[in-house]
Amino acid sequence: MHNDACNNCSNCKIYNKCALVFVGPPGCGKGTQASFLQKDYEFVAFAAGDELRKEIASGSELGLEIKGICDSGGLVSDSVINVMVDNFVAKTSANRLLFDGYPRKVSQAEALDEVFAKDSDWLLEVCYFQISNESIADRILHRFSCAGCGCVYNERTARPRVEGVCDKCGSKEFSKRNDDNEESIMKRLETYRLMTASIIDFYKERGILNIIDASLGFAEVSQQVEKVVKCVLEKLFEERR
Ligand code: AMP
Repeated sequence: MHNDACNNCSNCKIYNKCALVFVGPPGCGKGTQASFLQKDYEFVAFAAGDELRKEIASGSELGLEIKGICDSGGLVSDSVINVMVDNFVAKTSANRLLFDGYPRKVSQAEALDEVFAKDSDWLLEVCYFQISNESIADRILHRFSCAGCGCVYNERTARPRVEGVCDKCGSKEFSKRNDDNEESIMKRLETYRLMTASIIDFYKERGILNIIDASLGFAEVSQQVEKVVKCVLEKLFEERR
């Protein structure tokens, strides 16, 4: 993060566009915070898991190929997910992007660097959602979402205000993810430890890692995320005019 000292530096660059990367174990709450930034700060999000689930739901050949991997908690190949990211960045005209669940490996982080290397107007910043494995397993096992709008709830801690009716869209249909079961959660946490945790150091060395205490409630976590967002937006040309 550019700090106060850097803000005073005459060489400090002003950017036209920013990309936020959300890194953290499954169930750390990054998807919920991504929704908040989309709504309140007009970020356009690429949610890797959602994109893959869409592909699976489409019944395409690729969807069939990746279904087993996603359900069991492994990672789909870089070639599949990197193409989706390339397409997303190429198609969007938004200048505030958010990557939720991508990158998940150093090789993907390097691929994302290459995407942004094509255009020096991008400012990249990372939020790392830190939380213990015990809290995560509990959160994931009890989560469910609205089948209409995808709004996420928790059987114990965040039920809809009116029982059985989505707060956001009024739908009465809810569903649980195929991979939100104990066996898959253990595999996803292991995959995270083996493959994803190393990108924390990758971004830390670059000086763009912001640690978020994700063990707290929604409002407290949002406050931390907002602090990072405000620092990032200060570096954008549009905010300086
Ligand atoms: P998520 O919704 O982020 O929990 O992702 C659900 C599943 O999609 C993961 O357990 C992986 O199987 C797959 N997935 C999500 N993001 C990636 C990624 N960046 N690379 C490879 N596989 C991914």
